[in-house]
Amino acid sequence: MFKKILIANRGEIACRIMRSARDMGVASVAVYSDADRDALHVHEADEAVHIGASSALESYLKIENIIEAAKSTGAEAIHPGYGFLSENPNFVEAVEAAGMVFIGPSADAIRAMGLKDAAKKLMEDFGVPVVPGYHGSNQDAEFLAKEAEKIGYPVLIKARAGGGGKGMRLVERPADFASALEGAAREGQASFGDGHVLIEKFISSPRHIEIQVFGDSHGNVVHMFERDCSLQRRHQKVIEEAPAPGMNEKMRSAMGEAAVKAAKAVDYCGAGTVEFIVDGGGDLRPDGFWFMEMNTRLQVEHPVTEMITGFDLVALQLRVADGEKLPVAQNELSINGWAFETRIYAEDPANGFLPSVGDLTNFVMPEKIARVDAGIGYGGSNNSSLTISPHYDPMIGKIITHGKNRDEALAKMRAALDETYISGVRTNVAFLSAPCRQPVFEKSSPRQLRYQDQWLRPRQSAPLIHDQSGRYQRHPA
Ligand code: ADP
Repeated sequence: MFKKILIANRGEIACRIMRSARDMGVASVAVYSDADRDALHVHEADEAVHIGASSALESYLKIENIIEAAKSTGAEAIHPGYGFLSENPNFVEAVEAAGMVFIGPSADAIRAMGLKDAAKKLMEDFGVPVVPGYHGSNQDAEFLAKEAEKIGYPVLIKARAGGGGKGMRLVERPADFASALEGAAREGQASFGDGHVLIEKFISSPRHIEIQVFGDSHGNVVHMFERDCSLQRRHQKVIEEAPAPGMNEKMRSAMGEAAVKAAKAVDYCGAGTVEFIVDGGGDLRPDGFWFMEMNTRLQVEHPVTEMITGFDLVALQLRVADGEKLPVAQNELSINGWAFETRIYAEDPANGFLPSVGDLTNFVMPEKIARVDAGIGYGGSNNSSLTISPHYDPMIGKIITHGKNRDEALAKMRAALDETYISGVRTNVAFLSAPCRQPVFEKSSPRQLRYQDQWLRPRQSAPLIHDQSGRYQRHPA
């Protein structure tokens, strides 16, 4: 096993990776920007190297500085986390050229899955079902409008380089096509430097179900079952769970096999996720799921898979990156219970979800009843590691609960969110709590469930406060 690795990331995922490294006796090197001098990941690492100014472009995205930091500390491998350079094939090549191991897939695999149109074409060739639509190279507006007619409305226009729900437009009538196309292309160009789009049939009553896959360098690939991320707001995940409600064995093995096929198509090594859109209009059926894209990295929501399979995915990443064979075969994997994850953000749901930056004055997380993967915490001098910086994604951390069944895991999540007490910045805790109390989410599957803004209202006026005795209570409205 490696003796020392560098983690080219910050916040919760950097701390998460260090925890597994520490368990395995692997030393970790943190990198940090000006703004992160006193950040939690710097305190948790065995060594830390300053790599540049606060802007991510000058630090966490600066390939040369990261390679230099790894060389100067004698790190043998680099873990990219998620975001930043994690899906940048040029980074993988730079790491390898410097004689180190990239903890993740090959540059070729990342490239093959990097653009939604090319990835869909490849999947089609390998017999993986893809969402019906047009994913060719012709970008002529009139041609695309004709393709949309052929597909049949409603359609979804997607920027091929898109991510995080950006560059996507739902079009319900032909009359709206031209302006939606322009909007999607413009957003793709502005956010990803690529205005190419593809068009998909809009699956009504969609569910987002993704499969965790794992490959090693000996050609073995297994899947570690599904995560359901259907509860979304503006195409972004709000609450994730595993397994998926209403899943049956036929569907699970069909999706698992398709995901393994997708991974094998690109000789995938390491942790990856194959995302499918699923027809949630009725019972799940093996002919009702289609490939959307593959994320060639560890996902934010990987902990729910860890909770139901008992595997530490970061530890597995390190082991296969070091050349080991996967320690488990498909028929040895099984699902134990149910897990939920919520992502705690420093943002203001009542004000357009604007990031809320600054210093936390109280930070109480529900560690006693849930798994908490946080990126900030008590630890720095003057507790300055309790700061939300304006320079980066304002995620505070994640809460993960596990129970023997869905009801139990969800009840724990409700309790865990109630115990969470953060002040100094605004957070989305009440926003996350609201769906956990919605009968449609509690009782049935997340079928057709999209976040409803009105769910939030009754609780907005009743934030948690800390009373004198140290208990939490609702502030009288
Ligand atoms: P991004 O890479 O920007 O996250 P995705 O292609 O993964 O975009 O899609 C994001 C979300 O949008 C999905 O999880 C799903 O909820 C919705 N979505 C994507 N494609 C379709 C489709 N063809 N029909 C209906 N909903 C879709």
